[in-house]
Amino acid sequence: MRIALDKGFVINMVLKWLKKWFTSRDESKPQIIARRDHPISREMICDNALKVLYRLNKHGYQAYLVGGGVRDLLLQVPPKDFDIVTNATPDQIRRVFRNCRLIGRRFRLAHICFGPDIIEVATFRSPHTELDTTKAHQSEHGVVLRDNVYGKSIEEDVSRRDFTLNALYYNIADYSIVDYVGGLEDIHSKTLRIIGNAEERYREDPVRMLRAIRFASQRGLTMAPDTEAPIAILAPFIAHASPARLFEELFKLFLTGKALVTFQALKKSPLFSYLFKEVAESLHESPESVHLVEAVLKNTDDRFREDKPVTLAFVLAGILWPAIVKRQKHYRNEKPLIGLSLATQDVVRAQNTVIQIPRRIQQLCEDIWLMQQRLIAPHPKKIPQIANERRFRAAYDFLVLRAKAGEPLQRIVDWWTQYQESDEEGQAKMRAKFHSKLASRKKRKT
Ligand code: ATP
Ligand code: MG
Repeated sequence: MRIALDKGFVINMVLKWLKKWFTSRDESKPQIIARRDHPISREMICDNALKVLYRLNKHGYQAYLVGGGVRDLLLQVPPKDFDIVTNATPDQIRRVFRNCRLIGRRFRLAHICFGPDIIEVATFRSPHTELDTTKAHQSEHGVVLRDNVYGKSIEEDVSRRDFTLNALYYNIADYSIVDYVGGLEDIHSKTLRIIGNAEERYREDPVRMLRAIRFASQRGLTMAPDTEAPIAILAPFIAHASPARLFEELFKLFLTGKALVTFQALKKSPLFSYLFKEVAESLHESPESVHLVEAVLKNTDDRFREDKPVTLAFVLAGILWPAIVKRQKHYRNEKPLIGLSLATQDVVRAQNTVIQIPRRIQQLCEDIWLMQQRLIAPHPKKIPQIANERRFRAAYDFLVLRAKAGEPLQRIVDWWTQYQESDEEGQAKMRAKFHSKLASRKKRKT
């Protein structure tokens, strides 16, 4: 009886061990999809990226296309750029390419420049160990400040990537796709799933939470429950991310043709009030002020689709406008232009503590905002000067959108529209009429 029990116990242990061994073996064994079994052909990849891949390969290095390029080709979305990963170190990459620049401190990368076209090449990363402290630094909050521990293979690199569908490697040596993490299955089911323990991955880089919201909204993906749930708890950690890096994220959030859906998803997410505190408060107080923000973002998406230039300054001018309007109330005893100017300074200063807006873009936003007052109540003598200002067109477009969003500004918008369409003589007449109207209004007041 005793022996039988021991036997059962041992058999059970062996079965458990075998199961564990097989499961872990399966996990570390990649799925390799041969060229004939996947839809990515070389014609879909830009020539410069192909050149870089082939050249690395020719010099004896492994070279793969990875990240957004592979993901988007499989999702049948035109890729924005092509990222490459290799086992060559940044210095080795530099030796292979004359047109190479090394960039980044937190994450060292090589940029191979073909005129204005830049191909980004990363070296395989490896999971950190305690011995790597010189190359992998963490802040007191656990945020990884440097991630420069190089690996030798995909096997190491894959666990440093963020989401499964961003961790598919297209091998230039045989045109196959290598999948260690079930990324292909997630592509098919349109699931966004973080690699590893979500809480740990968000803590070491809180920007991943923002990336999760961006990918889900822009690519129509559903977040896996384990990927989504921790965001509600860890949202405040976004404030530990570098403000300069968060600014860089704004381009991908709002200037890639999906600004409106991205904003709507972000607004619903717990991150919003940490990223745009003042805006969140003002939208909470006056929900209708979201109409202007949405009009600006929709206009940006339309322009993107029509291949017209889009600027982050205009987008930010729209997103932050509700906060400016709210803040202006603090200065209601000042002259309107002074009140507006003080409000813009307050809002920009507060915003900069989380997202560092470069001075040049701040200036453009401020020009658009301050010109609103001058467009609505122009001094007739100043009209030609206003119409000739560099920011006139942006400020006028902003005013048009404010009217569209429901503010009672349609008459002044129509006036400025007609003014721009008139010849010199017509403009002079319009100014004179404006002048006499203003004069009679002033007379009535006295
Ligand atoms: P996009 O279309 O916006 O370029 P992307 O996924 O290519 O999307 P990139 O910022 O170009 O994003 O990064 C390339 C790849 O590098 C990602 O697909 C991912 O594998 C990896 N990566 C980027 N940022 C992170 C991060 N914060 N944490 C982990 N992996 C990351
Ligand atoms: Mg990319």
